[in-house]
Amino acid sequence: MKLHEYQSKQMFSKYGIPIPKGRVASTALDARHIAEELGGRVVIKSQVLVGGRGKAGGIKVAKSAEEAEALATQILSMEIKGLPVRKVLVDEAAAIEQEIYLGITNDRAAKKPVIMCSAAGGVDIEEVARTNPEKIIKVHINPLIGIKDYQTRDVAAGIDLPRENWKQFGEILRALWQVYVDTDATLAEINPLIINKERKLVALDGKMLIDDNALFRHPELSEMRDTDEDAPSEVEARKYGLTFIKLDGNIGCMVNGAGLAMASMDILKFFGGEPANFLDIGGGAGADKVAAAMRIILSDPSVKAILFNIFGGITRCDEVAKGILAAMADVKPKVPMVVRLVGTNAEEGRAMLANANMITAETLADAAQKAVAAAKGA
Ligand code: GDP
Ligand code: MN
Repeated sequence: MKLHEYQSKQMFSKYGIPIPKGRVASTALDARHIAEELGGRVVIKSQVLVGGRGKAGGIKVAKSAEEAEALATQILSMEIKGLPVRKVLVDEAAAIEQEIYLGITNDRAAKKPVIMCSAAGGVDIEEVARTNPEKIIKVHINPLIGIKDYQTRDVAAGIDLPRENWKQFGEILRALWQVYVDTDATLAEINPLIINKERKLVALDGKMLIDDNALFRHPELSEMRDTDEDAPSEVEARKYGLTFIKLDGNIGCMVNGAGLAMASMDILKFFGGEPANFLDIGGGAGADKVAAAMRIILSDPSVKAILFNIFGGITRCDEVAKGILAAMADVKPKVPMVVRLVGTNAEEGRAMLANANMITAETLADAAQKAVAAAKGA
């Protein structure tokens, strides 16, 4: 889950990282009032969950409260990379001496978190990584030990940070690490971290990604979720506690268990098919959840066939059958459906589906081949 800039910066601020004074506004008039409070010279920043807002015209500096209102009107009517701007952050304008990139993320290859830092901040870090990889300093963190002083010094020295800023830089880096750990983030990034005219470091932009699988521990963060950029089907699936990811293929998949879902997708591909989604209905899913999952799959017009692959353990096959029948009565699917049920109450489940006009299969290979053929209209 992505946090907005203003949410990330508020989080940073709680941990002692300096941020500009400012507040978020949903109307141009609010923006004007905030600008008045801040003394007129402000930046108006679109709050959308994409990068490169600056380049897209979504960040503008105003010299007065009137201008702030006019710019806010303009930015609030924009769409940036397909996303509507619903809020703007009105921040005290900063005078920038230098822009630094500072981020912490997981390095999967190293199996450790990594600090990334560059004196070439402000711009897209992926761009720097492509064109000038030597300008990015990387220092790994032992998650059990945390950040040691020599590491903050290594990073500061690596980017040629002026000596007078080292102490404050160390404090900011430690604070960023603490936010990262406490929120179960997969990314905590400040770009740019600036040196201002008073020679102090300030976090001008913030970005955080929170691990979805850890959100149950952070109800206050879950509430911050902005679903604007998510596929509607994924938003709907989340409501029912389904793990659903939309894909580009045409065979809808309903499977219980993430591993089995992966295996089902692999085998579909092996037989020349393309899955339309990843879907794990989870262990012990009842009829309601199954019906919801089926409605979500069927709401995708590119779905030409559905594969049900249910391995009944905690999940009971008769419950799954009940859900399928309920959803069928409701949405009247027109696509062929292949079903493979094994395990707990499979007999009962199959009996319930006997008259449901479904294609039955014994093994996963058999089911996958039948689904691929059905999707091709064979
Ligand atoms: P992004 O383009 O979405 O990453 O948004 P940022 O918040 O990083 O802003 C992009 C750029 O706008 C920054 O790198 C700065 O150069 C500039 N910028 C942002 N806020 C201010 C400000 O208060 N004063 C000045 N002078 N420039 C700013
Ligand atoms: Mn930025």
